[in-house]
Amino acid sequence: MTEGARVRGADPLIRCENLVRIYWADKVEVQALQGLDLTVMPGELLAVVGASGSGKSTLLGILSGLDVPTAGTAVVDGMDLLTMKRKDRIAFRRQTVGFVWAQTARNLFPYLSAVENVMLPMTYIGMKARARRSRAEELLDLFGMAHARDRRPDTLSGGEQQRVAIATAVANNPRVLFADEPTGELDTETGTDVFTALRRANAELNTTIVVVTHDPLVSRHTRRTIGIRNGRTSSEVLRDEEAQSTEEYAVLDRNGRLQLPRAFTDALHMRDRVRLALEDDHIGVWPQRMGAGGGAEG
Ligand code: ADP
Ligand code: MG
Repeated sequence: MTEGARVRGADPLIRCENLVRIYWADKVEVQALQGLDLTVMPGELLAVVGASGSGKSTLLGILSGLDVPTAGTAVVDGMDLLTMKRKDRIAFRRQTVGFVWAQTARNLFPYLSAVENVMLPMTYIGMKARARRSRAEELLDLFGMAHARDRRPDTLSGGEQQRVAIATAVANNPRVLFADEPTGELDTETGTDVFTALRRANAELNTTIVVVTHDPLVSRHTRRTIGIRNGRTSSEVLRDEEAQSTEEYAVLDRNGRLQLPRAFTDALHMRDRVRLALEDDHIGVWPQRMGAGGGAEG
């Protein structure tokens, strides 16, 4: 275990090491994930932020058992996602993970009321109708949706639909809830309500949550935010709620690689190679000197 500082004595719920996912489209290779490392501890509410095409949906597809990685390690709640059998995969999707998608219509059945939608997943695990209804009502209440219990999704606002979707996704008490751009179709204010619901699921139900988004502002809602760039985790922001401070880190992988922020390298015109120097308490990084003939020494 190399990430000793972060492990805090407990086992991670999610562990990805050097995760690779390659797609083939018209004989062209697309490397959606290029050696991604990620550790999520039980009980965390984590945001993964990255531009469109950076590999966020690919990552969630793998972690939720819908897609299989090309190489690397991906373990969720002790299940190895590269070698998991078909039968285990179905149970994993029903019981270990919950999912909320960006498209509000994709999360709920249109012909069922809110409470019927929340009750549905509990039928798969054999819960009795009375117990299902009372848990569904409790969950709707928890997310401020008790008033809409008997309404169908198309009579609810987008933000309300997402809150019912969260209630549905946590109905079977999943070990982890994945949300792929859950506020993607909503305005900022409604999006905040959805984040409040996610935070509540995390705090009250103790559900571990991983939410991916292209909106860097979500780091206001989470203690830890991971940046993903070109299919790799590249930065990490930790927010201290009490001190109201944030600290940004670059992710250093086990081979010593890190990604410098584009804004930094552009500002100093750094390209191709940089000069490094070890100091007492930091490492200096300088642009290659003009006319240095391609050598990094001197
Ligand atoms: P994000 O969710 O961050 O926008 P994705 O994970 O959807 O990114 O995509 C990452 C990269 O993989 C993109 O270049 C995308 O075009 C490519 N990709 C995703 N799914 C497929 C697929 N099924 N076939 C081919 N390429 C894909
Ligand atoms: Mg996506």
